[in-house]
Amino acid sequence: MDITFIGATRTVTGSLHLFEYDNQKFLLECGLYQGHREEAERINRTFPFKPKDIKAVILSHAHIDHSGNLPNLTKRGFSGPIYCTPATKDIASLLLLDSAKIQEYDIEYLNKKHKRKGLPLKEPLYTVKDAEQTIKHFSAVNYEETFEPVKGVKTTLYDAGHILGSSIILLEADGKKLLFSGDLGRKNIPIIKDPTVIENIDYMILESTYGGRTHKSSEGLTDEFRGIIKKGRQKNGKIIIPAFAVERTQILVTMLKNLYEDGSLKDLPVYVDSPLATNVTNVFRDHPECFDKETYQIFVDGDPFNFAGLYYVKDSEESKSLNSQSGPMVIVSASGMCEGGRVTHHLIHSIEKDSTIIVMTGFQARGTLGRKILEGADKIWIFNEDYKVRAKVYFMGGLSAHADGGDLLEYVKSCNNGRLKKIFLIHGDIEEALVLQRAIQTAENVDVDIPQSMTQVNV
Ligand SMILES: [Zn+2]
Ligand SMILES: [Zn+2]
Repeated sequence: MDITFIGATRTVTGSLHLFEYDNQKFLLECGLYQGHREEAERINRTFPFKPKDIKAVILSHAHIDHSGNLPNLTKRGFSGPIYCTPATKDIASLLLLDSAKIQEYDIEYLNKKHKRKGLPLKEPLYTVKDAEQTIKHFSAVNYEETFEPVKGVKTTLYDAGHILGSSIILLEADGKKLLFSGDLGRKNIPIIKDPTVIENIDYMILESTYGGRTHKSSEGLTDEFRGIIKKGRQKNGKIIIPAFAVERTQILVTMLKNLYEDGSLKDLPVYVDSPLATNVTNVFRDHPECFDKETYQIFVDGDPFNFAGLYYVKDSEESKSLNSQSGPMVIVSASGMCEGGRVTHHLIHSIEKDSTIIVMTGFQARGTLGRKILEGADKIWIFNEDYKVRAKVYFMGGLSAHADGGDLLEYVKSCNNGRLKKIFLIHGDIEEALVLQRAIQTAENVDVDIPQSMTQVNV
């Protein structure tokens, strides 16, 4: 089998890997590269292969850095199946439509500027129509059911414990086994199961997002959250929680449900204000097969994503009406890095008040508004207006959906029963990958490579 590492090499975004077996080409992932506009344009708009030559795609999970360039692939001639779990199919469908709307909107905005300056107009990377077309190609396969995306390559998906429906991809051909980790989760995170350990493998392609870091423990997280809620109540203001629509919002809701049940929320209303997060939550309810034991039990007895005092905000009128309401309340809203979505409106109305609390719950990329708020900026800009930051900002670490350096090493150790020959580290900045490479090579007798983009290997 020949592998060409294309995207998410020495970086975390734009996952894309080309496989060739017996003259049949297939892809693992087809993610969107997210970064500076010109660079992202160049990378996302060009494939170093002919899309019509690709027989199939295997998708590890719904996140846009893994799935987000699929509509462009179909637009350019790919017509094969896209294999993934049923939950990934449902979440990715929502995310791709959302991404297409953003692509269309961005280009419309850019073209207005171009028109004024007499510059040539641009076409969106893909449209809602392209996304709808792509969704038709999804072919759902359950965990641990073997299928053949191309003749002679047996493929099985196992739970990766990262987000709902996420999978590790195991490929078998000519008696050799290759494991592709996708994004690997952590043990004991709420809602979903732990990552599956798979032994007797020859090769591993492993993510390394946090290869050089140690996450804050998830223990004590509920106590930390309870403490923040208490402070918010004392201040009598809004508690605004920017959150990713997939997984993070649902985890926060289950944590808030616990706080409601132990009396910590009392009559504090909680609003989930993101149409995408609400739709994704409905998908979660459709896939109890992905829940861990605790969440499954709650599902059998009722609804893990609901409690009295929780409101899923529907239209934008309802969302705006929250602005004029005073008094303590919790608002969970997207986007998670405050780059757009309804959370920006809540920030505009509340960030200048010292009664407001902002709780950051996830990774904030460099250059994002969320990062500026987290780093303690005095002043921020939203839609060309400046706002003084008077709100109190908290960071709740320990909610990461990614394995840290220790978890990744532990995972390699559990899978390696002496047969593992080589590991390729992907999906991590070079600094992170180097630390993990050293750690694995010290602990295990395995060769570890950090391929660059367009590196080809034969396994
Ligand atoms: Zn992911
Ligand atoms: Zn990823």
